[in-house]
Amino acid sequence: MAEPDFYLSDAQRELQRALRAFTAKEITPIAAKCDAEERFPVELFPKLGALGYLGLRFPAAVGGAGGSNLDYAILCEELAYGSAGIALGFYVHMALACAALEAFGSETVKARWLPPAIRGEKIGAWAFAEAGAGSDAGSVATRAVRDGDAYVLNGAKLFITNGPIADFLVVVASTAPEQRLKGLSLFLVERDRPGFRVAASLSKLGVRASEMAELVFEDCRVPSENLIGRENRGFLDALRTLTLGRIASAAFATGIARAACEATLAYAGTRVQFGQPIGSFQAVRFGIADMALQVEAARLLCHRAAIAADRGLPHGREASMAKLYATEVCTRVVERALHYHGAAGFMSESPIQRFYRDCKVFELGEGSSELQRDMIARELGL
Ligand SMILES: Cc1cc2nc3c(=O)[nH]c(=O)nc-3n(C[C@H](O)[C@H](O)[C@H](O)COP(=O)(O)OP(=O)(O)OC[C@H]3O[C@@H](n4cnc5c(N)ncnc54)[C@H](O)[C@@H]3O)c2cc1C
Repeated sequence: MAEPDFYLSDAQRELQRALRAFTAKEITPIAAKCDAEERFPVELFPKLGALGYLGLRFPAAVGGAGGSNLDYAILCEELAYGSAGIALGFYVHMALACAALEAFGSETVKARWLPPAIRGEKIGAWAFAEAGAGSDAGSVATRAVRDGDAYVLNGAKLFITNGPIADFLVVVASTAPEQRLKGLSLFLVERDRPGFRVAASLSKLGVRASEMAELVFEDCRVPSENLIGRENRGFLDALRTLTLGRIASAAFATGIARAACEATLAYAGTRVQFGQPIGSFQAVRFGIADMALQVEAARLLCHRAAIAADRGLPHGREASMAKLYATEVCTRVVERALHYHGAAGFMSESPIQRFYRDCKVFELGEGSSELQRDMIARELGL
């Protein structure tokens, strides 16, 4: 599908081209198998690291490759085009775990963890959600209590992507429960810390190529230098600073929707019923035209938010609009793709059924659609 890329620099077009080649060679061929086996292909970590992609947006001082939010949006769309599950595993590592260490970690922590993480030799996870804390972050019940020159963590985390494979975690824990959101801090917890364990691997409907776990902390003692950012303010600072999540979600959704749309376009040209390709029926043609329109509108909103962020402009409303529109449109586009594929799309070997299972989660994570609508209304002055 032709794309409105008039605002991309030559370097960004080259990045997009190289990522498409990488996805076609390394991700698309294994996407169905990883999905079926519920396995993240950890062997891709050093490959992506060697090509410099894991270092996008990180400074050279920690081994990063620099780059912009728009570069990162391009990366997310291209990886998700091949496999949303694989893209999600890389996202959590880069945009949450590593980004938190880079923004708020001490020099010692950064020097120790970021270079190997950016080379793809260490894998990170972001451990915020709990049984009682999802949209309502202030309900986090995992406690971190200061004890001399250490903190002692107790609690359990649920739905943690990369949990089963992570070498390090950035854990959100309460250091002042009565202050709820204003009492949440971030801690680096290494996988081999006594008191930390992966309690269970979790099986999911979609994005099955990413691995997910329930984690438990029982008197898990971490040195005070593992506090990432300010005590009691770490999570709020992260919410304010790590704004990429909504832009990345919009890019993932664009990638899945584009893959579904392209597959439908190809199928409609070859599937013959009543003596003609189904793409010649007006009802199908109009439907596919709408799908293509929605993919392009989603990308434009996503890139608008990324460009605003790159220019240092306010971009909260733009990011929420992009996330809301792209993720909801993705679900609609994928539903139409399944419809136009008929029974063929419903079969296990079809990528369409995988897209159908993968898309929904992006409406929920990084602030559900309701929370985005609420933020947009607030930005509009309501
Ligand atoms: C595939 C996947 C990967 C994940 N990976 C991670 C991870 O790596 N790390 C991590 O910490 N967490 C992760 N999560 C968990 C994620 O953070 C939560 O799913 C998310 O915060 C939403 O919380 P919840 O699922 O408990 O839904 P809830 O907050 O219980 O929401 C349920 C419903 O209620 C609605 N709702 C809630 N509050 C309001 C309100 N104020 N107004 C209107 N409607 C509302 C929501 O929109 C939603 O429809 C993952 C989840 C999934 C599914």
